[in-house]
Amino acid sequence: MILDGKKIAAEIRAELREQIEALRAQGQRVPKLAIVIVGNNPASETYVANKIKACAEVGIEAVRIAYTSDITEQTLLTEIHRLNNDETIDGFIVQLPLPEHIRESVILSAIDYRKDVDGLTPENIGRTVQGMPSIISATPRGIRELLARYQIATAGKHVVVIGRSNIVGKPMAILLMQRAYLSLPNISAASFGDATVTICHSKTQDLAAICRTADIIIVAAGSPGLLTADMVREGAVIIDVGINRVEDISSPHGYKLVGDVDFENVSKKAAYITPVPGGVGPMTIVSLLQNTMQAYTSKQNKSL
Ligand code: NDP
Repeated sequence: MILDGKKIAAEIRAELREQIEALRAQGQRVPKLAIVIVGNNPASETYVANKIKACAEVGIEAVRIAYTSDITEQTLLTEIHRLNNDETIDGFIVQLPLPEHIRESVILSAIDYRKDVDGLTPENIGRTVQGMPSIISATPRGIRELLARYQIATAGKHVVVIGRSNIVGKPMAILLMQRAYLSLPNISAASFGDATVTICHSKTQDLAAICRTADIIIVAAGSPGLLTADMVREGAVIIDVGINRVEDISSPHGYKLVGDVDFENVSKKAAYITPVPGGVGPMTIVSLLQNTMQAYTSKQNKSL
């Protein structure tokens, strides 16, 4: 069965739209997101445009703050401090990657964790590890929501996460191994968390053997076709995070997007599988909107 991220993301957008319309109807201000973009990386431009479009669809106000790639680290830090202190901004993100002369860790650490709707500050990650209220990075949050909405429980399951990046692999593994989430809307008690997690990476030996013992495999490696059918056991759940451009002369762009999974063959064995595109990607974008809504509400009730 296909885990339809596009459909679930549309459902969540409709829910958010309703909540924001209700705020408007009550005469309250709507959530506001700022997106800082540095330079003119075409992929970043596309991601930012998609995020702004998604905000507009649900009624979140979005502002794009653009700088040329010669901006200094200090000027960017000054902008971060300004956004931290701007009462009208509920959350903001700094689109990555940054130019090489700007240290990503310095910039991310300067963001007020309560406005860090990408969930990438050391504070948010530390709070997640400790099971405290936090903002979770968009892709793991989206995967959690997708599994929950298809009622796929992780408790007691062996989950293999391939990839150990700060934005996907590590936070995903942390969420899965936490004690079950009892208080999340739409996530029934004990359905998410409480998994036994194995984290794999490029130095892992015999990845295939490890994967064959998994009930659920989450692949975030950026390596097309990495997960093949012989690595998957019958009835496993497969979440493909990878987004890779591969040459395709039949496409008007000359390339197509594929994930990290050999979809054609793995889908024959999997109980559930996400497609690429249309799986994790749309869930990631909608999670940013949910994080913005979370930052907005937690500002009102000081829950972060
Ligand atoms: P990174 O490049 O930061 O991390 C990739 C991870 O995969 C690393 O830990 C690396 O190991 C591991 N890895 C790479 N090749 C192999 C291999 N052959 N076997 C085992 N492990 C391997 O990538 P990201 O986490 O940022 O992104 C991963 C993929 O997900 C990319 O394709 C990206 O485009 C996509 N992505 C998709 C999103 C979505 O919304 N769908 C959102 C974010 C990312 P090591 O640490 O040893 O180098």
